[in-house]
Amino acid sequence: DGKFMDGKALAKQVRERTAAEVAEFTARTGRRPGLATVLVGDDPASAVYVASKRKQCVAAGMTDHHRLLPATASQDEVAEVLTELAADPEVSGILLQLPLPAGLDAGALVQLIPAAKDVDGLTTLSAGLLAQGRPGLRPCTPSGVIELLDAHDVPLEGANAVVIGRSELVGKPVAQLLLQRNATVTICHSRTRDLAEVCRRADVVVAAAGRAGLVQGDWVKEGAVVVDVGIHRTDAGLVGDVDTAAAAERAALITPVPGGVGPMTIAMLLHNTLVAARAQFDAQFDAQFDAQFDAGADA
Ligand code: NAD
Repeated sequence: DGKFMDGKALAKQVRERTAAEVAEFTARTGRRPGLATVLVGDDPASAVYVASKRKQCVAAGMTDHHRLLPATASQDEVAEVLTELAADPEVSGILLQLPLPAGLDAGALVQLIPAAKDVDGLTTLSAGLLAQGRPGLRPCTPSGVIELLDAHDVPLEGANAVVIGRSELVGKPVAQLLLQRNATVTICHSRTRDLAEVCRRADVVVAAAGRAGLVQGDWVKEGAVVVDVGIHRTDAGLVGDVDTAAAAERAALITPVPGGVGPMTIAMLLHNTLVAARAQFDAQFDAQFDAQFDAGADA
């Protein structure tokens, strides 16, 4: 059915395009982009995600700098690994797999990743660069959402876009990216009044609330575009934040779960790692970020 946006197919295209660009980069510079994944502990879901990221990064021609720490690792031990990777010229991008075991301060550790290597786009500097519309690395899932919308020629300029969720990882950066594309953005969250009514005005809905089946079919305006970021494991398999079958009856375009936004995330991570490698090679990125850091420190 043509109204379902095929994230699996688009992710494959992005990976192939990235692999071709990695080959060009390597031919031009004699270097390979490198991704460092840092996994702390043995959370099974995290282990699966990290394995998949490493595999796809190698398949795209990048080098793998995986670091595994035990669940008992201290804040200082994780910090030391991140500091080492930050200084390693072979490492273009650093990804600290979240969530971390209880007792570790993820917020503080993420900030040890230099913005130039922040391929998850989660540091305060990366978030600030995004908020100001300056060049920088963008969070992967939000970039994947925009990539999906663009691939389907969804008009964003002037469109009413409703984002459900305001996390630093998904909701806020999606809203920023939509704003950058001149959408009229409404950000909803757990304390929004009459979410259904707000949704019914949307030309584009991005559901990232982490609540299975939250968005009902009759919340969707006829002809709207619905992007479902949610992932929930249920007895019936994976479901999203949207009642997909009901919403699909009204939507012009909708992402399935699985096979919609999910596959895009790792594809955008590969893309970000290449972007980081290029920028580090050109050395402009570093200088630019350093200048901003200095300016911030002096202000
Ligand atoms: P989160 O829990 O950090 O944030 C959820 C946000 O939704 C919060 O801002 C909260 O205020 C809002 N919210 C919660 N309940 C709500 C309600 N009833 N009505 C309106 N707003 C509500 O979650 P997150 O990290 O942003 O992730 C959101 C979902 O996306 C989760 O299901 C997660 O598994 C999924 N996710 C998918 C990918 C992917 O690759 N596809 C990546 C990251 C997250």
